[in-house]
Amino acid sequence: METPRTELNELGEFGLIERIKTASTLRNTTSLRGIGDDAAVIKKDEKNVFLVSTDTLAEGIHFDLTYVPLKHLGYKAVVVNLSDIVAMNGTPEQITVALACSNRFSVEAIEELYQGILLACDHYNVDLVGGDTTTSRAGLILSITALGTAEADKVVYRSGARTNDIVCVSGDLGGAYMGLQVLEREKQSFLANPEMQPELEGLDYIVQRQLKPEARVDMVKELATLGILPTSMIDISDGLASEILHLCSSSGKGAELFEDKFPIDQMTYETAREFDLDPLTVMMNGGEDYELLFTIKQEDFEKIKNHPSINPIGYMKEAAAGVNLITKAGNSFPIKAQGWKHF
Ligand SMILES: [Mg+2]
Repeated sequence: METPRTELNELGEFGLIERIKTASTLRNTTSLRGIGDDAAVIKKDEKNVFLVSTDTLAEGIHFDLTYVPLKHLGYKAVVVNLSDIVAMNGTPEQITVALACSNRFSVEAIEELYQGILLACDHYNVDLVGGDTTTSRAGLILSITALGTAEADKVVYRSGARTNDIVCVSGDLGGAYMGLQVLEREKQSFLANPEMQPELEGLDYIVQRQLKPEARVDMVKELATLGILPTSMIDISDGLASEILHLCSSSGKGAELFEDKFPIDQMTYETAREFDLDPLTVMMNGGEDYELLFTIKQEDFEKIKNHPSINPIGYMKEAAAGVNLITKAGNSFPIKAQGWKHF
């Protein structure tokens, strides 16, 4: 009898994670939280926990070396991992780096990659404490594990949002995606005519959002300074739509988000228009902004209402209300995830 075969794209990335989660059991009392949040939570002592998260970047899937300089790739690979520690309201402290590459890369090229990794370590006050290097036949693969710490009672999970909590997002959305569109366009014109110089002038902000994003470590500190402990939090790696759905399903809640409250940079907006893309779709599904999506209690609203980089965008609702977007015209639409599907 033939073994049944399920295609990975039928299951999707999140379906696969769910399957692995169901099949695994936590045996040690120190494993406080396993699969299912931005980082795992491990007991350190009575008052503190360790946070652990791993992310892998694969050439041709997550990055294209025709326009991503290796130094930027190294920097970004660290940032996306630190962002997951930050999303638990923690402080990143160490990373390990596993690298698989072919002899297509020179020692100098790999050194350039590490320069980016070390630059990020320096910027975020994080130590590179180990890793592994191996051979790959299918391009460059970079897997980073980030470790961090938090006070046990300050860890913020995806699951803590309550009805009527205010949904907030840090910074602005969609920039990284529009930066990618610009870089893709330049790649195509370069392939058509290698003599062409890239036209990136005036687009620094969005190109930077794509090539050199930052983890919002500053926001964790800012929230503490404001005396706010978010009720739930997640980082925006796949796009607002996908992340609000994760947050709602983990918390067993619904939500109502208002389009007119969504933060967008002027350059992101104009570039989206130029590319004939809907700025709303870019904000909802663009991804890779590495901003934070979090919920706070109503009573904390006064503390953030005039904050320049904390934007209240909606409310948590009962699960039965669903997860909806209220457009500028006042219409309500259920939010669907259209984030990256890797398989
Ligand atoms: Mg995350």
